[in-house]
Amino acid sequence: GVNEEKRLEYRYLDLRTQRMRNNLLLRHKTIKLIRDFLDERDFLEIETPILTKSTPEGARDYVVPSRLQQGSFYALPQSPQQYKQLLMISGIEKYFQIARCFRDEDTRGDRQPEFTQMDLEMSFVDEEEIMKLNEELLIKIATTLFPNKKIQEIPFPRISYKEAMEKYGTDKPDLRQDKNDPNLLAFCWIVDFPFFEKTDNNSWTFTHNPFSKPKEEHMDWLMEKKSIENILTTQYDVALNGYEIGGGSIRNHNPEALKKAFEIMGYENERIEKNFSHMLEALSFGAPPHGGIAWGLERLLMILQNEESIREVMAFPKTGDGRDLMMKAPSPIDEKQLKELKIKIDKK
Ligand code: ASP
Repeated sequence: GVNEEKRLEYRYLDLRTQRMRNNLLLRHKTIKLIRDFLDERDFLEIETPILTKSTPEGARDYVVPSRLQQGSFYALPQSPQQYKQLLMISGIEKYFQIARCFRDEDTRGDRQPEFTQMDLEMSFVDEEEIMKLNEELLIKIATTLFPNKKIQEIPFPRISYKEAMEKYGTDKPDLRQDKNDPNLLAFCWIVDFPFFEKTDNNSWTFTHNPFSKPKEEHMDWLMEKKSIENILTTQYDVALNGYEIGGGSIRNHNPEALKKAFEIMGYENERIEKNFSHMLEALSFGAPPHGGIAWGLERLLMILQNEESIREVMAFPKTGDGRDLMMKAPSPIDEKQLKELKIKIDKK
């Protein structure tokens, strides 16, 4: 076959192939099914900004310099996390979005600088309800659009993080009984994750999402900042054939408790104020209990389409080192543009 760099350089020709056409078609149909399914259940699809402020999902932000506010930068969203929570405070009880996310991560096989999430959030729910809804949607996608696939076990098995690590050495186990069957789908839920983990320099960081709520029975430990290593969160991940395809949690809607989580992670008051005062303030107006989830849409599609890489289910992906070979991006910009932004390049 043609090597992948050539395929990416001439993507418009590559997309003429039956394989790529079919991948685009099924992506379209999957998204349409998701929209219809959630629409029937009274979800509102709401777009959230791309030019925004840093939101912590554990990766590096892409930043965009502001011309009008010189020296200030927007961050591209790593996820719509904060906006979707703010929408819950607005009284939107069921939100979803087919959302573009941006994470500036070092080259890793199956990562892309920008990717798409099926992102949703709901008010007045518990873990059970969100898992049930998502399970139903995943089953519907598989059975209606990918009829050759067989789901190994329904309801999806649930495994605690501890058990997954002990038994499989990973929190995204491949549970397929027959690993050579390309049409077998072994979904599972992983639950009971630790809230915090130690960083390299021996402080605490969140394992998934700083906005998660601890398990009810561990709330006291959070408030008293004790037994930190034993605090479990309401986080649930969904794995499929050895890949994590989604994850979410019930959120910490009490601003005092959220502040404790930041304090445990060693954030100074000043940093909490600077980065999260809008969230703490918004929560203080009274927030409904809420929670949600996001799927990595390309991972799911890659598995359903028997593809080896998420690039095969994206129209215009980038290389592993973040280049668009067709558009030749990223690229230097004009001196004039730099001047307007008051940016000087430090040429080594
Ligand atoms: N925002 C989270 C993520 O991007 C998902 C969630 O907790 O809803 O992984």
